[in-house]
Order: sequence, then C-alpha cells, then structure tokens
Amino acid sequence: MEEQLLTAYLCFWLAVLGAVLGSFLDCAASRWAAGDPHPFQGRSRCGSCGHTLGARDLVPVFSFLLRRGRCRYCGARIPARCLVSELAGAAAFLCLGLRFGLSLELGQWFAFAALLLALSLTDWAARILPDKLLLLLAANRAVWFFVLGHGVREVLEAAKAFAVPAALLALVLIMEKLLGREAMGGGDIKLLFVLALYLSWAELFLTLLAGCLLGLIWAALTGGKAKTAMPFGPFLALGAMLTVCCGGPVLEWYFGLF
Ligand SMILES: [Zn+2]
Repeated sequence: MEEQLLTAYLCFWLAVLGAVLGSFLDCAASRWAAGDPHPFQGRSRCGSCGHTLGARDLVPVFSFLLRRGRCRYCGARIPARCLVSELAGAAAFLCLGLRFGLSLELGQWFAFAALLLALSLTDWAARILPDKLLLLLAANRAVWFFVLGHGVREVLEAAKAFAVPAALLALVLIMEKLLGREAMGGGDIKLLFVLALYLSWAELFLTLLAGCLLGLIWAALTGGKAKTAMPFGPFLALGAMLTVCCGGPVLEWYFGLF
C-alpha cells in the first residue's frame, strides 16, 4: 500500500514536471517561430494582446481548461498547440518514469523526450526541424553512451540501425527522381538518423510504422484539410516515444511469429 502511494506521488510530480516543461518549450518554440532572437528570455505574454501573464495564467493544462482556451485579458484564442504540448510533456515524463523507474538512465530519456517535444513544436509551428536541436539530441546519446559505460557492442548496434534511414534516404531520392518533386522532408530523414543512435533497427522500423499510422489516422480524422495539415516530424517523435515506452512487447510478439 505504502509503495503504491509513493508510486502515485512520484507519478504526479513527474506529470507536473513534464507539463511545465511542455508549457515552457511551446512558449520558446512559438517565439522562435515568430523570429524572436531570444526565445528563452522574458516573461510569458499573451501572443495576441501582449499582456504579461500572471501565475494563475501559467498553471499548465488547468489555466487553459479554466479559461476555455482564451486569454483572460483580451479574450483571444490561445493556440491548441499550448495544451497539446503540456499534455504531451506530462504523458511523456509519466510513461518514461513508469518504463525505466528512478534510475540514472531516466535522465537520458527525459532529455530525449524534451528534445523530441521541442523538435515537434518547431516543426508544427514553422515546419522546420532545426539542426541545432538534432545535434543536441545526438549529443545527449553520445554523453550517455559514455556515462552508462556502453561499449563497442552498442556502437555497432547503432551502426546497424543506420541502415534503416539510409535505405529510406535512397528510396526517397529515387522517388524524387521519378516524381520530380520532394517526397519526404530532409529534416525527417535527419531525425531518423539521430534516432538510430537510440533505437535498434527493428525499433526504428516500428517507429517509422507507428509514425505513418498515426499520420494517416490524423489525416482521416481531420479530413486532410490543408489548414490542419501536419508535418511528419511530430508523428515520428510520437512513434519513437511509443516505441521506447512500449515497443518491447510488440517486437517480442512479432519476432515470436517466426
Ligand atoms: Zn491577450
């Protein structure tokens, strides 16, 4: 009983931490997309009237729901991306906490989730996966290879996983040659190469499959309208998070079929 209470308590705080991070990243990403040279500086303001937001406007998720997604001062709609990033941050931290427990390794996956969320937000807001963020994502893995004392085996595993994005890149280049237009964003393929540092080739394949499925479901739900059309990056990021948190049993089942 005591243990369950402690788990629930830790889960609650992990979700809060994730939601706060999601809120912060969305704010920074929208400032960055608007061309602000200092996206991490200054107090939070309403994107519409510029009013400085107070503490009660900044409670993740709840402020948005209580004000029904509108600014307290001018009544303008707050972008849905705000709520989505807070919920995504909370869900990501909660799932990672449950998957890895309180361990050293959890640090690596928190940074992984935060960077994927930041990449999803910049892709959503401005259709760009910034190289700086991709490099940070790769650096995070490199640091943890070192900290967790991983050896040659993991490095070789990562080299094998590179085959998936490499094959995809070849396919995309051929498609583009045939179609004469862009078939897949270059940023998405770069992201897959970085993800290959974290995932085995099978996990990477699952990530790609999950990303495509989620993208198709999204297109079906929104009727594929141009206004709501989503770049592929966020789906790829979500696919990667799902694979990290619950891909193990899926792959075990699949390879058990043979
Ligand atoms: Zn306002």
